[in-house]
Amino acid sequence: MGELLVEFLSRNPHQKFTHPGEFVGPFPSGAPAIFAAQVARLGHRAMIFGCVGNDDFGRLNIERLRHEGVIVDGIRVMNNAVTGTAFVSYQSPQERDFIFNIPDSACGLFTEKDIDPQLLQQCKHIHIMGSSLFSFRMIDATRKAMMAIKAAGGTVSFDPNIRKEMLNIPEMEQAFDYLIEYTDIFLPSESELPFFARHKNLSEEQIVSDLLQAGVKHVVVKRAQRGASYYHVEDGELQTLHLPGYTVETVDPTGAGDCFGATFVTLFLSGLPAAKALYYANASGAIAVTQQGPMEGIASLSEIDDFLRRQP
Ligand code: ATP
Ligand code: MG
Repeated sequence: MGELLVEFLSRNPHQKFTHPGEFVGPFPSGAPAIFAAQVARLGHRAMIFGCVGNDDFGRLNIERLRHEGVIVDGIRVMNNAVTGTAFVSYQSPQERDFIFNIPDSACGLFTEKDIDPQLLQQCKHIHIMGSSLFSFRMIDATRKAMMAIKAAGGTVSFDPNIRKEMLNIPEMEQAFDYLIEYTDIFLPSESELPFFARHKNLSEEQIVSDLLQAGVKHVVVKRAQRGASYYHVEDGELQTLHLPGYTVETVDPTGAGDCFGATFVTLFLSGLPAAKALYYANASGAIAVTQQGPMEGIASLSEIDDFLRRQP
């Protein structure tokens, strides 16, 4: 549930927003949309709730998701607002700036009333992106959907997906506090973990141990080119698994975390052991960075297998 956007990417490195330059796009985007598309590519059922405008950017997004096999019945088309946009400018493969138009776009009009209860009833799991908690209304809708799914015995995964451009939204931080209480699978980036620490200067293991003690069942830490780690408590002992990253050519890192998360959550919930799900997710994230465009790097299980076979 959350933002449906189109994205425009700066064509050249070190291109700034303060000077005219070339941009490539529109690409269908929005973290929850990328996540849903990756779930569908793996051959599993995914549904997305959100809003687009009655314009070609909205149609581009809906048609692409439909083409990927995502159930798009939960997307509302609004006549009184335009589809959200994001502009991305890369300073380096690791450093990028965004200009978002999300809360004031069609995405921002989404409320709890836009959720069809019959569609929601079909959901056994909800994935929450921190980037989707951009307004009080969105937070409220997310909380209600999460509660309904949990009450029906479903599960929750949560990726903080913090964007420095969005940190001035006061409701967002408060929402993080209670969402974590309901989270089964937590998927932060390494740099986001300190936001969830009891106090400063704790090690990663200490922060993760606290979260696992507080009720989170599985923690997966994303480390971009350095791979990922999985944490879990078994028989009172902290179990850890670290996988190094694959060496790939980074064309466009946006969306890697979403593809990684979708692959881990989908395979793990479908019954694969966490180690195997992590192994596939690590490859899924690596594949994502090799393609230009946030959703263009999604991969099927057989594409991931092909990638893994080519690794030394
Ligand atoms: P974003 O929110 O920008 O999509 P993120 O911070 O959530 O990113 P990353 O750590 O950048 O997530 O990427 C997720 C996973 O994808 C990594 O843990 C790793 O498995 C894989 N990955 C990402 N970047 C690379 C890379 N350059 N080389 C190899 N693997 C990568
Ligand atoms: Mg992310």
